[in-house]
Amino acid sequence: MEIRRTQCLIDGEWIGKGETPVLNPASGEEIAHVPHMGGEETVRAIAAASKAFKTWSRSLAKERSAILRRWFDLIVENADELAAILTEEQGKPLTEAKGEILYAASFVEFYAEEAKRIYGETIPSPFKDGRIIVLREPIGVVAAITPWNFPAAMITRKVAPAFAAGCTAVVKPAPDTPLTAFALASLAQEAGLPAGVLNVISGDAVAIGNALCASDDVRALTFTGSTPIGKLLIKQCADTVKQMGLELGGNAPFIVFDDADIDAAVQGAMASKFRNAGQTCVCANRIYVQAGVYDEFAEKLTAEVNKMVVGPGAEEGVTQGPLINDAAVQKVEGLVKDALDKGASVATGGGRHQLGGRFFQPTVLTDVTTAMAVTRDEIFGPVAPLYKFEKDEDAVEMANATEFGLASYFYSRDIGRIWRVAEALEYGMVSINSGILSTEVAPFGGVKESGTGREGSRHGIDEFTELKYMLMSGI
Ligand code: ADP
Repeated sequence: MEIRRTQCLIDGEWIGKGETPVLNPASGEEIAHVPHMGGEETVRAIAAASKAFKTWSRSLAKERSAILRRWFDLIVENADELAAILTEEQGKPLTEAKGEILYAASFVEFYAEEAKRIYGETIPSPFKDGRIIVLREPIGVVAAITPWNFPAAMITRKVAPAFAAGCTAVVKPAPDTPLTAFALASLAQEAGLPAGVLNVISGDAVAIGNALCASDDVRALTFTGSTPIGKLLIKQCADTVKQMGLELGGNAPFIVFDDADIDAAVQGAMASKFRNAGQTCVCANRIYVQAGVYDEFAEKLTAEVNKMVVGPGAEEGVTQGPLINDAAVQKVEGLVKDALDKGASVATGGGRHQLGGRFFQPTVLTDVTTAMAVTRDEIFGPVAPLYKFEKDEDAVEMANATEFGLASYFYSRDIGRIWRVAEALEYGMVSINSGILSTEVAPFGGVKESGTGREGSRHGIDEFTELKYMLMSGI
């Protein structure tokens, strides 16, 4: 079956002509042209989703579950092809792309199972002649706006729970990575998802965003992306009072205490910092190392970073691909320059890679201080800044000194310290002695300006359902 599609999906039809180029970030080549849709097409997609909601929301949970399960099977069967498309438009190494496809599939599998368990409740009544029942109903049409760093997983993590609950969706993928979205939609269609349940449109982000936010029929908006756009969407959704799920920016601290297993901490830092060339919202952004183990950690981390192989993601053996676009390279370059100007030292890397284009050297900076911009800004690139600290309280205070609160990491083997620090960190997620924490079975999400709501786990269904309290009286 052909999953390399370059058209949009509205009401079960593939439509639109190729207008906007999609680039391969490794080579700068145009790999496809996709439609440039706007407000009018968005309104059509919402109408299709509203119509489909009438029947989909009344289908049996078991029927929805079976379709999701078939979609999961098809994603797994086509994982190699999907990974190839993902790497081509996004740049990450093929093995990572394959990992993302299986991670994306895991949400579809999980919510295929969860669809059958969206329970309501009964509550002991305070009224002699009354009984209290709570129904959990699908909220309606869902709008999903997704980023380019996880072109597959950010879509399934949103739409799989929405479909499980009985909702329908209009998805706007990032302009850099529409092909993965179309390929997934193609497989959903093949799995038997009825027309209009999933609509995918590429084009003018502002026009599509405006139409989605302004619509009375769209009852929930789920967004993963930058904090400024998230704030804009909150404002735009105020007039129609939508349910909102927001996964916004992060500024993850990664703390290494002096009792840590240093080799394990180095492996964790590699996984957390350099996955997707540092372009994830849970990537370690600030690495705080206790004075007694600072030199050892810096040396060992630098040795590991020096083993990384930079190149096009499709090439065998490559462990770090290009950054997504030129603006990303300039931003990372600017952050490194700012740190060096203010006294940081380069342990390895430090600038653009000799391959040119969008390739950046995996970099370790030492002697980093909180006066440098890397402390505040989400780096979104392969740069590991190392800060030195003395007391536990100092590390926690520095870790919390940000408006963000998504992921945090620390390494220690002292059980008392582990509890004290885990409780003191103002983050939605705390990873102890591990550099990777994402899984479909746990609630992913942030506090403070990192967002609202949780994705994955049974909690991921919440934003797509409403509670209806029924009082049955006169008994
Ligand atoms: P990033 O910096 O990761 O690209 P963005 O927040 O800019 O993050 O993008 C995330 C998603 O939000 C993308 O799909 C993008 O097209 C979309 N987007 C950007 N601006 C708007 C907007 N004004 N309205 C709706 N969606 C938008």
